[in-house]
Amino acid sequence: MKAIKPSPFRGRWHEVPDEGKKGRTMRIRFYNARILTMKENAEIFEGELWTSDDKIIYCDTTDQITDYYKENPEVMLVFDREIDCKGNLLMPGFKNAHTHSGMTLMRSRADDLPLAEWLNEQVFPVEAKLTAEDIYYLTQLAILEYLDGGITSIFDMYLTPESIADACRDAGMRCVQVGAANNFSQSAEFVEEMYNKINGKDEYNSYIIGFHAEYTCSKELLQKFSDLAHKYKAPVFTHIAETAPEVAGCRERYGMSPLQLLDSLGMFDYGGGGYHLVHTDEADMDILKKRGMYAVTNPGSNTKLASGIAPINDYLKRGIPVAIGTDGPGSNNCLNMFREMFLVTGLGKLRENDAACIDAIEVLKMATVNGAHAMGLKDSDCLEAGKLADLIMIDMSQPNMHPVNNIAKNIVYSGSNSNVILTMIGGVIRYEKGEYNIGRSSQEIYSKVEEIKDRIYKEL
Ligand SMILES: [Zn+2]
Repeated sequence: MKAIKPSPFRGRWHEVPDEGKKGRTMRIRFYNARILTMKENAEIFEGELWTSDDKIIYCDTTDQITDYYKENPEVMLVFDREIDCKGNLLMPGFKNAHTHSGMTLMRSRADDLPLAEWLNEQVFPVEAKLTAEDIYYLTQLAILEYLDGGITSIFDMYLTPESIADACRDAGMRCVQVGAANNFSQSAEFVEEMYNKINGKDEYNSYIIGFHAEYTCSKELLQKFSDLAHKYKAPVFTHIAETAPEVAGCRERYGMSPLQLLDSLGMFDYGGGGYHLVHTDEADMDILKKRGMYAVTNPGSNTKLASGIAPINDYLKRGIPVAIGTDGPGSNNCLNMFREMFLVTGLGKLRENDAACIDAIEVLKMATVNGAHAMGLKDSDCLEAGKLADLIMIDMSQPNMHPVNNIAKNIVYSGSNSNVILTMIGGVIRYEKGEYNIGRSSQEIYSKVEEIKDRIYKEL
């Protein structure tokens, strides 16, 4: 990469009062950057990115700055911080499109078991003892891991939506929650209450109608979620077709696959999506396509629980948008989008016996743009002036990023969390070179989680 000179305007801007605003706007300038916007194609250019408050206000080549300044003569900026990226890459943050953050407590506690045994004997008894405050700290532990792995938004399903929203707001993590109701916990009424309470509550949190899965909900309860979808003209998300026994059980109960049953109830008349979608047939895929649904794939969890390999290539061929999630740390066990990205393409190639399918650029799109769209976050999908400043910096000086043949492919095939040196959410740098800026130390969170672990497992 050729060296980029500092902008000719550097140091020449003047601060102007923030019109009509109380307090000071935070402005950050990134220069000498490689930029992967994830707009349209995955082209990488050398340029600058500026943020003001929570938004990107400039994202283009250095050459275009003169034009920008001519077109925006009223803009006279002084930056609070100017960051020399030294050729490192700026790109949209990863969107973890399915997780259960509060399950950090169960990481490496009950492994190497079949899903049903793991869920019924290891997960549910522990969850019965968790308090809302426990889940606050368990979620913050997950947030540490999200940030150092470049994840700027999560699609979270767990037990106590209000304390999860607090944990995310306090740490500055963007979080879209989805209802987790089943026959035993939460309810359609509770999901509706959270839908109205959390949406619009603050800039970090939102909430989507959802439930745990067909196999944990009665048909009457499922119908209530479909009714909610119609009442609010809103999408619905849930676990669908994760394992073969789940699909067989539904066929036995209703003579239909889970996706067909849910669709027959009108569940997806306003769109939505399914987590996992491993065991789907042609009729299921027709529904996904017809309803404009998202397939959120979780290859790490599906691999560890031996659930199967999702037919990602079939979804892509049909134009069904695919997003990627880690699933919870109890079943994965890490919250690492680099590993998921590699597994999506690696397992897909194995399943099809075709090394040419599911290319790296497509996978990057799943991990950024598609994830944002699935979660309803239209303003944090790519890097562009006017979008939210949810971005990460990838260190290009590390050996696994060299030689520089194809940066996007390096990220998917050889990248790792250690390449992430900066994570910004809504214009605030929340992680930078090993340091967190989330309102409390990582050590305090680790200590709290150890206390929770000791208390809960002693009671069991
Ligand atoms: Zn899940």
